[in-house]
Amino acid sequence: MIYMDHSATAPVDPAVFEAMKPYFIDSFGNASTLYSLGREGRRAMESARKQVASIINADPKEIIFTSGGTESDNIAIKGTAYRLKNKGNHIITSNIEHPAVTETCKYLAKHGFDVTYVPVDNDGIIKASDVEDAITDKTILITIMHANNEIGTIQPIAEIGQIAHEKGIYFHTDAVQSVGKIPVDVNELNVDMLSLSSHKLYGPKGIGALYIKKGVRLEPILHGGGHERGLRPGTENVPGIVGLGKACEISQENLEKEMQELTRLRDKLIKAVLEENEEAYLNGHPTQRLPGNVNFRFTGIEGESLILHLDSKGIAASTGSACSSTKLEPSQVLMAIGLKEVEAHGSLRISLGRDNTEEQIDYVIKSIKEVVDILRKMSPLWCSKGE
Ligand SMILES: *Cc1c(COP(=O)(O)O)cnc(C)c1O
Repeated sequence: MIYMDHSATAPVDPAVFEAMKPYFIDSFGNASTLYSLGREGRRAMESARKQVASIINADPKEIIFTSGGTESDNIAIKGTAYRLKNKGNHIITSNIEHPAVTETCKYLAKHGFDVTYVPVDNDGIIKASDVEDAITDKTILITIMHANNEIGTIQPIAEIGQIAHEKGIYFHTDAVQSVGKIPVDVNELNVDMLSLSSHKLYGPKGIGALYIKKGVRLEPILHGGGHERGLRPGTENVPGIVGLGKACEISQENLEKEMQELTRLRDKLIKAVLEENEEAYLNGHPTQRLPGNVNFRFTGIEGESLILHLDSKGIAASTGSACSSTKLEPSQVLMAIGLKEVEAHGSLRISLGRDNTEEQIDYVIKSIKEVVDILRKMSPLWCSKGE
């Protein structure tokens, strides 16, 4: 099996698994107790908090642990909305956000908030000036993702953050796809809140973190025992937290090297597939995209058939996003970059990771060509220019 769906989830790094193991059976104590068994867990948790803070250049006191990217997004967005509802009711986001952001905004829109969805250009990039133009005196929050999960485009977060701060508006970014993949520095990005998730960076599933800048106040959305500064109550998931910390440490150490290698493999894949296949196109920006992200479309071919044929050749890739694969609607992200519905149904996302090799890339290039040729022979929609 050749795994090329790292944007959906990544395998746990063996070193991460080793780091987690002692905290299931030997050091199982409740990290909020006073005896030594609990203190061991507490110490491990605080050292993980440093590792998480370090990869985004934050202070450990600015990190709270959550159950993942979805929860971090919810705490940031609803926490701001509830806290500042007397100040204003307007939220700005984009039209290519992950459902964890979009659905949260839609929920708030049903409860008295106004949401503006800023568009993207045909490459999938948001213009900072469009965000600025959307600001009103009621705006309390701007939430724009750092890197997109389907087409990998990287947004001008630092620029948007500067605008938000000049106007005194809270700025949140969903950085689930970017942390551990490209440099992420909360100070350079000018963000007040940032979401990250462990399983997208070779850590375990069900754990994540939210960066909350010193001085930013949020209303809790969960109520309980007061853990994580009252913002995420519940007995701490110590093994998960330790795993997330270790995953951050490994990703930070290897960032430059991995970025270079994945960019090289990505560009080789893009170049070969566009050259070897008629009417093949790249979705998203050619360079302003994540090192491991490739998203193609092929005229006359359905994404689902492509995925299934590639699967039979031992390749795991996806269409738009894992979250929408069970729905029949076309990808919102691909519609947002101006594709027609039939085009948006024909996409293939290949997301590379640190375990992929050059040989695998060569095999995938060859397999895509074979599958595209077979599907087009069968497709009534396709008439090759040569025939
Ligand atoms: C995967 C993903 C999420 C959700 O993270 P979970 O940890 O699975 O809840 C949120 N935002 C983006 C951009 C993602 O890719």
